[in-house]
Amino acid sequence: MAGDCIFCKISKGEIPAKKLYEDDELVAFWDTAPQAPIHFLVIPKKHLSGPAGTTAADDQLIGKVLRKGAELAAANGAADCRLVMNNGPEAGQTVFHLHMHVLGGRPMTWPPG
Ligand code: 5GP
Ligand code: ZN
Repeated sequence: MAGDCIFCKISKGEIPAKKLYEDDELVAFWDTAPQAPIHFLVIPKKHLSGPAGTTAADDQLIGKVLRKGAELAAANGAADCRLVMNNGPEAGQTVFHLHMHVLGGRPMTWPPG
């Protein structure tokens, strides 16, 4: 883990988050600045800086992030949802621990801003 990583701290329970799912590999928790009626994040417990920080060894883990995000969205009433990973500052990434946004509960527009 990266010592000052806020999402590592959430995954270890060192700082609080409103979790909706947890297993040995993943945690999902509600975003504190929601951009839609449903907005939670799915993260691997393993510290990865973002999509560009993964290797082939992470392929199964990242597939699980995607699958669990869609499952949890449906379980929370948002089967139709937007799954987003921001990769790098220009793309809007502000926390450098890989996370997938799951947004739903309202119509989504395209392209994103
Ligand atoms: P990014 O901009 O890196 O793609 O997304 C980071 C997300 O993490 C933002 O939507 C932000 O609101 C959320 N976030 C940042 N710090 C915390 C926190 O301490 N707790 C929770 N639950 N969400 C956070
Ligand atoms: Zn981390």
